[in-house]
Amino acid sequence: MSESDVVVIGSANADLILEIDHRPRGGETILGSDLVVMPGGKGANQAVAAGRLGAGVAFIGCVGPDAYGQMLRTSLAEAGVDTGRLHVADLPSANAIILVTPDGENSIIVSPGANRRMTPELLDGCRATWAGAAIVVLQLEIPLDTVAHVATHAHRAGSRVLVNAAPAAMLDDEVLALCDPLVVNESEADFLVPGGTTGMSPAEMTDALLALGPLSVVVTLGAGGAVHAERGGDVVRTPAHRVQAVDTTGAGDAFVGALAAELAAGADLAGAVTLANEVAAVAVGRRGAQASYPWRAELGR
Ligand code: ATP
Repeated sequence: MSESDVVVIGSANADLILEIDHRPRGGETILGSDLVVMPGGKGANQAVAAGRLGAGVAFIGCVGPDAYGQMLRTSLAEAGVDTGRLHVADLPSANAIILVTPDGENSIIVSPGANRRMTPELLDGCRATWAGAAIVVLQLEIPLDTVAHVATHAHRAGSRVLVNAAPAAMLDDEVLALCDPLVVNESEADFLVPGGTTGMSPAEMTDALLALGPLSVVVTLGAGGAVHAERGGDVVRTPAHRVQAVDTTGAGDAFVGALAAELAAGADLAGAVTLANEVAAVAVGRRGAQASYPWRAELGR
């Protein structure tokens, strides 16, 4: 039986951020800004978001035996996340190389490194940490057979399973049927729904996703907030908070981490979406991913 309310299982990446005037062509060398290194990765981001809200959170991931791994561990620990199952693998820490041009557009290259060691066998070795947790949170930056394995066994052990299908990838019907909720943004929804979601209203998108089998669905809509529904229930639209958007990096992860923390605390899906929307709005109003996530006390709750 897990001792944590929320167990996040996923990626931990060091983000290497460079501002450039233009993307280099083949054979071209350009000068960029000074390199900025920040803790990231969908899994680690979500764990930090939930930890800062005061939930009992454990993170299961893999980093390399390097300085990036230390940075990722420290950021998690400072958010109050249990890092006892953050494994040190025989591969370098994962990196996301993020190139930002003056128009604000990002080009991102992910080197998966130690995230590749997130195998079903490794997860079986720490099953007591996750099986039976109030909520187990998964994303798709680790091997998909591991996601399926954990979802199946966590559900069997009585855990609620939240799957954030990001980055977009196909999930087996058996895995989709366990999601409660399945959380996606609009482009991931478009990827998952056969024939795409072009021209669909948020309510139609939600219905199309529920038809894939999950018990509940949340679609984040950027500045449009979020829409959610449970199987057989009404579609509920939650508008975004009005904020001056400074940096939307990791907003989706802030949303998912907060959603998990609030569900684990006993909120219903509507209540959890309300908090997630509030937390994500704070995150878009500040620079960075993990660094932008609010602490519970800042929310005045
Ligand atoms: P990212 O990839 O940037 O982390 P995402 O594409 O996964 O984000 P979005 O749907 O863009 O996810 O945003 C997630 C949540 O963040 C939204 O549901 C909303 O609550 C909040 N949000 C995003 N943009 C804004 C904004 N401009 N103003 C207020 N809230 C926002």
